[in-house]
Amino acid sequence: MSLHSSLFERSKKVCPGGVHSPVRSFKNMGVGPLFFRSAKGATITDVEGKEYVDFCQSFGPLILGHRDPDVEKEVIEQIHTAWTFGAPEPYSLELAEWITSRIPWAEKIRFVSSGTEAVMSALRVARAATGREKVLKFDGCYHGHLDSLLVQSGSGLAGEASSTSAGISAGTAAQTLVCSLDDEATLERIFEQHGKDIACLALEPLPANYGLLLQRQSFLEKAVKLAKAHGALVLFDEVISGFRVALGGMAELLNIRPDLVCYGKILGGGFPVGCYGGRNDLMDLVAPAGPVYQAGTLSANPVGMRAGLATLKKCESLNVWKILKERTESFVSALQEGMQDTDFAVASHHSIFWIHAKTPQPIRAISAIPAEHGKNFAPFFRSCLNKGIYLAPNGYEVGFLSLAHNEEILQTSAKKLIEASHDWKIS
Ligand code: PMP
Repeated sequence: MSLHSSLFERSKKVCPGGVHSPVRSFKNMGVGPLFFRSAKGATITDVEGKEYVDFCQSFGPLILGHRDPDVEKEVIEQIHTAWTFGAPEPYSLELAEWITSRIPWAEKIRFVSSGTEAVMSALRVARAATGREKVLKFDGCYHGHLDSLLVQSGSGLAGEASSTSAGISAGTAAQTLVCSLDDEATLERIFEQHGKDIACLALEPLPANYGLLLQRQSFLEKAVKLAKAHGALVLFDEVISGFRVALGGMAELLNIRPDLVCYGKILGGGFPVGCYGGRNDLMDLVAPAGPVYQAGTLSANPVGMRAGLATLKKCESLNVWKILKERTESFVSALQEGMQDTDFAVASHHSIFWIHAKTPQPIRAISAIPAEHGKNFAPFFRSCLNKGIYLAPNGYEVGFLSLAHNEEILQTSAKKLIEASHDWKIS
C-alpha cells in the first residue's frame, strides 16, 4: 500500500470521505487522492517525494506561486509579531485602504475569512437595502456553500430553483431564482415575473466554476441593465476573477460598476481571507454602523492581511496581470496547436484555462458542455499525474498560471499535456 493510500485510509476514519473539501477526494478519477507535503513556486511535492508542476495553485489564490519570497518574508515577520487580536490593528487598515483607493466601486469593505462568508454577507446587505427577499443567480455559477445559492434550475420555466445539496430547506431554495447563462429571453421573463421581489442579481462575471464559460459582454450588460431597471442590486462575485484578470477584476475589464462585490482567494495571498464591499450607503448598513449583523473571530487576521497586501503590491508593481496574460496566451496556443488532431480544445481568459471536449461554438452555458466531457477526463488526469503535472482533480475545474510558471516550465508542461491529451479520447 502506498503512503498516499494508507494516509487516505486513516483519514476516512476521522473525516467524512477522508477530506475537508469534496473535490480533494479525486472522486471519479480512478485513483485515490495524493497527499502533499511541501511547495515552492510552480512545484508541489507529495508525501512520497514526487514533484509536480501545479496548475491548480490551491484553486486560484497563489497568483505569485507557492511561497513567493516577498510574501513569505512578510508572513514570517508577522508570525513573530502577532497572530490575532480580535481587536483593531493597522494591518487590515492598510489593506482596506489599498483596495478602496484603487477600486472605485469598493467604497468600503469588510474582511471575512472565506469567499462563502463574503457572498453570504453581501446577500444579507442586499436584502436589507432593498427590503426584498429573492436572489437571482445563473446556472453553473458557484458562490460558495451558503444554503440559498446551492441551487440549480428547477423544472419550472420562470427561474424556480431546486437545491443541489441535502439539508437545504425548500423555503430557502425558493428564495433563489436561477437562469441559464447566455439566455437573454429567460432572463427577461424572470425579471418580468419576479422583478419587484429581486433584491440582487448575483453573478460570476467570469464563470469559472463549471469549466470556463466565457460570456458575451452584451449579455452581461443586458443582465446588469435589467437588474437596475427593476431596482435589484448587482453583486459581482469576483472571488476567482478579482485581482486575477486585472487589479479591478472583471468589473474593470468590462467597465461595469457593480453595487456590491466579493473577493477572496488572491486577496489573502494563500491565507483564509475574503471580503465584501460596495457603495458607501450599502456598506454603512453593516454592524456596528448599521442594522445588518455580521462578525468573525478571526476576521482580518494580521497574517492573512500582510500576505494579501504583499501579494497585491507585488502584482501591481510588476504588472503581473500583463505578464501572465501574455504567458497564458502563448501556452494556450501551443496547447491548441498540439491538440488539433484530438477531440479537445482549450478556453482561456487571462491566466485561467480550461481543457474541454471540442465543440463547434465557444461554450457559454453548462447545457453546451458535451456530455462526454466529464467521462473521459480521468485517463487524461492520471496520465498528467504520471508525467508530473497536477491539474485540479475534476474535469469541470479550471487551471491557473502563476508568476512562478516561467516560459521553460510552461513549454515542458505544454508538451506533457499534449501527450496526455492523446490518452483522453472522447468516445
Ligand atoms: N465564489 C466563487 C466565484 C468561488 O469560486 C468560490 C470558491 N471556489 C467561492 C465563492 C467560495 O469561496 P470559499 O471556498 O473561500 O468559501
